Amino acid sequence: MPQSAEKTKDHVSLFQEPEYTEMFAAKKAQFECRPTDEAVAAQAEYTKTWEYREKNFAREKAVINPAKACQPLGAVFAAQGFEETMPYVHGSQGCVAYFRSHLARHFKEAVPCVSDSMTEDAAVFGGLTNIVDGLQNSYTLYKPKMIAVSTTCMAEVIGDDLSAFIATAKEKESVPADFAVPFAHTPSFVGSHTTGYDNMIKGVLSYFWDRESEKTRGKVTEKINIIPGFDGYAVANNRELKRYLDTMGVEYTFISDVSDIYDTPSDGTYRMYDGGTKLDDVRTAIDAKATIALQHDCSAKSLEYIETKGQPTANFRYPMGVSGTDALLMKISELSGKPIPESIEKERGRLVDAMTDSQAYLHGKKVAVFGDPDFVYGMVSFLLEMGCEPLHCLSTNGGKEWVAAMEALLASSPFGAGCKVYAGKDLWHMRSLLFTEPTDLLIGSSYGKYLEKDTGIPLIRLTFPIFDRHHHHRFPTLGYQGALRVLVEILDRIFEVTDASSDISYDLTR
Ligand code: SF4
Repeated sequence: MPQSAEKTKDHVSLFQEPEYTEMFAAKKAQFECRPTDEAVAAQAEYTKTWEYREKNFAREKAVINPAKACQPLGAVFAAQGFEETMPYVHGSQGCVAYFRSHLARHFKEAVPCVSDSMTEDAAVFGGLTNIVDGLQNSYTLYKPKMIAVSTTCMAEVIGDDLSAFIATAKEKESVPADFAVPFAHTPSFVGSHTTGYDNMIKGVLSYFWDRESEKTRGKVTEKINIIPGFDGYAVANNRELKRYLDTMGVEYTFISDVSDIYDTPSDGTYRMYDGGTKLDDVRTAIDAKATIALQHDCSAKSLEYIETKGQPTANFRYPMGVSGTDALLMKISELSGKPIPESIEKERGRLVDAMTDSQAYLHGKKVAVFGDPDFVYGMVSFLLEMGCEPLHCLSTNGGKEWVAAMEALLASSPFGAGCKVYAGKDLWHMRSLLFTEPTDLLIGSSYGKYLEKDTGIPLIRLTFPIFDRHHHHRFPTLGYQGALRVLVEILDRIFEVTDASSDISYDLTR
């Protein structure tokens, strides 16, 4: 046996041992009934052609490797950003295991979230009993200040009514009558995790602002509300944005702040809840001067709701890079009446200096980008500023409005001229694009590593989820400092490729 208590091997080396390689070969020969290696190779070659690309893009009935997750995942993420809040999913346990593992694999943190484990009987008779028992268990065992309920496909298909079910649970004293149980219906067969995020934010706000409005409404304050949106870099990005706001002297409330819950220290104490937006701050956020959402796609319904309360709103599309950060800071300054201090202006100048230093290596680099609509928009905006040439922009959860915004952005720069925008397409479409019209770089999530292996196009991981690299979320992508980090990641990859591809230009100095 290659593995023993004295000599343990990681799977990477263990499965290279003859014992395993012979077993894999035997299984393949006996059970796979596959065509010959030559036939497989010929078919693989065919999938790289223009002819196959056209067939692939004509595909209607199947989705292969979508770059998105389902609604409740976004709702769980949003719920976790509130003080001592337990996200609660009304639905199947397996779905919740997926949400927890998806988030834990990215943030490398335990992810508290419960389900009421609907099974076959609940699918037939409805999940009322599950929610009555589940709320009581959650309240008793985990002692949260709030339980935020979302749904999976099963609960939505049978039409469970969360409002009525939660009212019944309160009548049956599962939780006290005045205990906060906001909810959001998050049907997973429409929208994506960004829609679920939006639904949950609206659910939490409307719980406090409608049901408790008589307790909460006061005079308009100096505070600005910030809705960060679903962001795999929220740990560092929220902190970076708070640094700007503190430097400017702006009073603010983050509407869902996951920066501490996804970054708890190892000091011998397990924190089921850490940080998050105080519930009292959510209550009084109705009286803020304005609300700024950093991601358009994650905030449409929430902002619409906030506007009904007479509050001005502003909406961004993941404001990355120089102009994105400029626009965000100027909007904060305009709304708060606070000037942008010189220290922040200097950070901007340093970023522009760094971009200028590296211009020769960035200019004309062809790039493919995939991910959530706002991420792709923000990333492409920064790529254009750097002189890169985006070629393929793909968002599985992008829609017509996103395509129009992307096309306007691309039209604003000569570097955007050759780029095409693909909404509703998946990573198998992206594979066809990369084989038929290759790029120098690919930017997206860890799921892009299969495209990198297939096509040889280097992947830069800059969005959610990043499962196969560690700690990226601890460093910002937003603000001038974040842009500098993104710039360095892109440059490092360019230099690695350059060094690997030539002995003649294996230069010490670049
Ligand atoms: S798509 Fe539906 S079934 Fe699948 S994980 Fe999401 S909620 Fe569960």
